[in-house]
Amino acid sequence: QRTADLKEGNNRLSEEIAQRMVAQNALQEAASTDYLTRLMNRRAILDHLSYEFLHNDRNQTVLTVLLLDLDHFKRINDNYGHDAGDNVLIETAVRMKSMLRTPDMVARWGGEEFLIVLPSTPLEGALLAAEKIRSRIADTPFYINGQALRITASLGVAQSVAGGSVENLLTRVDKALYAAKTHGRDRVEVARVVAFGELARRVAPDAIHHAAAFDGGARGDRVGPAEHVRVLVRAQELGGLVDQALHQRAVPGPDRHVGDRVAGSGDVRALREPTAAHV
Ligand code: GH3
Ligand code: MG
Ligand code: MG
Repeated sequence: QRTADLKEGNNRLSEEIAQRMVAQNALQEAASTDYLTRLMNRRAILDHLSYEFLHNDRNQTVLTVLLLDLDHFKRINDNYGHDAGDNVLIETAVRMKSMLRTPDMVARWGGEEFLIVLPSTPLEGALLAAEKIRSRIADTPFYINGQALRITASLGVAQSVAGGSVENLLTRVDKALYAAKTHGRDRVEVARVVAFGELARRVAPDAIHHAAAFDGGARGDRVGPAEHVRVLVRAQELGGLVDQALHQRAVPGPDRHVGDRVAGSGDVRALREPTAAHV
């Protein structure tokens, strides 16, 4: 009888523990999920981003973040009501989720803003993803009360820099988004690496060409999409290189000797020759 009682007590205890775990998991999920879109919330993606950031830094890979903000969203609320606005947010979430791959993460950053983290993704791939998301929103109408509506979004894109911080990455992507807004909305803009333009001009004559095209791109001058991407990628690479050298950190890959020279002399001008040859 004693053994049977003990056994039953044990079973009850196991059951209780299991129930508590279920309840705790539910609480945890609620705390990290946005109630409306069922996406991760701001807190959850910040945790993930911090983790991914360290991981990328350690492995000398890069990650990219996209910040998306729906254009003139206030008008949708004003013209069609708050519930219609909510449905647009839900539909936007569904569209973004359907476009991203498994390691990618998307969260509701706040209001009508969404943050997307693309781990181990350099700028070139991220720009393609951003452009796909932009067109998936702009080119497929949203239906509100049976009425087809064209809605657009603006996106900022920023790539992590070795030795940088999450805060800096978020500040840069926010600025890029702001640029997309001021340059006319329904477009993608890329964040420049801190202090890039200035330094690039001093560092390599070839970089001037890139910097000029880069600045042109940032001003919204028309360059072909392929050229635009190529220039931005190279500009970002050069900027990252200079940044790393300035922080006297080892530069990975074929640019290592360049970084070593700069670190050795403490002078960014040491970048001039090799960088020019490398462009
Ligand atoms: P812009 O193109 O410059 O981004 O213009 P905007 O109107 O989208 O920007 P603004 O920041 O002025 O307005 C954002 C609006 O988003 C205002 C707010 O009422 C609405 N909004 C924020 N969160 C929610 C939500 O959960 N549901 C609904 N329906 N609307 C929301
Ligand atoms: Mg908006
Ligand atoms: Mg907004």
